[in-house]
Amino acid sequence: MNFLELAETFAIMEKTTSRLELTDHLVLILKKTPSDIVDKIVYLIQGKLGPDYESSELGIAEKLIIKSLSLVSGHSLNEIQNKYSVIGDLGEVAYNILTNKIQTTLVHQLLTIENVFETLLKIAKVSGTGSLDIKLRFIVSLLNNSSNLEAKFIVKLILGNLRLGIADFTLLDAIALTFTGDKKNRRILERAYNVSSDLGKIALILSKGSIEDIQSISISLFIPIRPMLAERVSNPSEALEKINGVALAEFKIDGERIQIHKKGKRVELFTRSLENVTSNFPDIIKAFDNIETKDLIAEGEVVAINPENNKYLPFQSLMRRRRKYNIQEITAAYPVILNLFDLLYYNGSDKTHVTLLERRKLLAKLFGKQKKSDKIKLIDQINVSRIEEIEIYTEKALKNGCEGIMIKNPGSQYRAGAREWAWMKLKKEYSGEVTDSVDLVVVGALHGKGRRVGKYGALLLASYDAERDVFCTICKVGTGFTDNTLLTITDKLNKHVIKHKHPRVESGNTKMDTWFEPKIVLEIISPEITLSPVYTTAIDRIKPEYGLALRFPKFTGKIREDKSAEDATTVKEIFEIYRDQLK
Ligand code: AMP
Repeated sequence: MNFLELAETFAIMEKTTSRLELTDHLVLILKKTPSDIVDKIVYLIQGKLGPDYESSELGIAEKLIIKSLSLVSGHSLNEIQNKYSVIGDLGEVAYNILTNKIQTTLVHQLLTIENVFETLLKIAKVSGTGSLDIKLRFIVSLLNNSSNLEAKFIVKLILGNLRLGIADFTLLDAIALTFTGDKKNRRILERAYNVSSDLGKIALILSKGSIEDIQSISISLFIPIRPMLAERVSNPSEALEKINGVALAEFKIDGERIQIHKKGKRVELFTRSLENVTSNFPDIIKAFDNIETKDLIAEGEVVAINPENNKYLPFQSLMRRRRKYNIQEITAAYPVILNLFDLLYYNGSDKTHVTLLERRKLLAKLFGKQKKSDKIKLIDQINVSRIEEIEIYTEKALKNGCEGIMIKNPGSQYRAGAREWAWMKLKKEYSGEVTDSVDLVVVGALHGKGRRVGKYGALLLASYDAERDVFCTICKVGTGFTDNTLLTITDKLNKHVIKHKHPRVESGNTKMDTWFEPKIVLEIISPEITLSPVYTTAIDRIKPEYGLALRFPKFTGKIREDKSAEDATTVKEIFEIYRDQLK
């Protein structure tokens, strides 16, 4: 299959803002794709070279693209740099330059999906001395054989800024429609996706086999499972209403969720967004040496601690561990501990179908009594059945530096990727002094003025509507930023600038200077939620043409690096917080 066909589809999708139309285009291209390369097409549509956990990231510097474009076109580096300053997108620059090439290549090789994909993989994988030259040669060879449209999308893929606005849900719909003829089968595909975290693999299996083959996809070691999530409750009685009888209450520690996969001596760690972070935690890996099991998949919260008093440190301290270099020094300077709260797989068998109570017993058997390492602990947990017990336990959690508590149904199974009432988070402090925080996605911005020239002034934030898989605006935030954090956020956001409002963002008539792909999640506090004719969160649910807005929103200083846009606070949660406010 020619790469040009995919590039033409990308060009159409780039201009499409309707999710249904996007799905139609996806179905068209998937139908045209020969079955043995369906996985590659799916990864390329996602702007990736494989599932997230394999981390074959391209991460090529813009400078290298500029140099390649100069070599291919005969234009000077300066000319290209100038065009880039005007156009602001190197993919578009490539399109422009290859339309007006000074020199032409004599021999053209037709670009196929396979050879583009393989070459991109080689570019991602090559490392060590001389790797830059090798990468340059690969990029030049691709661009030499490209038409202007192909070059535009090859450059975008290499830089990781394809930004077509296609969510996993949309791709799942398209895969279900293409290969089973029925969107309803998305549910089955979704389950398989939640345990395999690999849309390319699902499409490939389905294109060659049947829906039964998808149903038999099960948990595998070293393939991260999409984590189970919690609903939010704002008081103990609400939690107890959802669980008849006794609930399990646990500390809710403000660290980073880690999924541990172990078989024999091999141990790997994945984050909540399925990134492999094994190399960041050599101390945790070593601690697992003493745990004698054939295999396991467990989950826990890793948190930075103060070595002098073993107290938990805030989330930001943990982020210092997310470095590529000097890992040994960083490990020593920022000690962490792992607090385990779940066991998903053990001794060759899937434990997600047994109850939480059973899973916890197994976990205690493995890690409990005889303390095998002071780096690995069981998370603090008690049984609760009365409001006062929950209140006292919340106090204790907050005193110990936790964000709040989790309340879990002891009879519940582990439901990968699901946000249900089996797990509930209770973050609020009952004294009323601390307001609950929410995690919101940046979808747009206004330019800064005065001291903020060159940075963003106010950011347009959105909550996530999980039912419809879209983002709904909720406020503009301009306070709580230091000059430094604003600079960091501006840098991060600049990687996600798009030309028009993102197709999955619902923003009513709000006008912005810049729009972003929904990627960056910020923690926000606000004393109150109010009705607003401007924002679209829960629009029409309380009053026609009115949505919900955060009043006096303030950035807490915490960029939620561990959260993807779909992990942001949901419209449903905001609606419930609003409803509780009125009680
Ligand atoms: P939130 O990030 O507010 O949606 O809360 C869910 C997150 O809390 C999980 O993804 C974990 O990272 C974290 N967490 C902390 N303690 C626990 C616990 N005891 N059980 C489950 N998750 C926990």
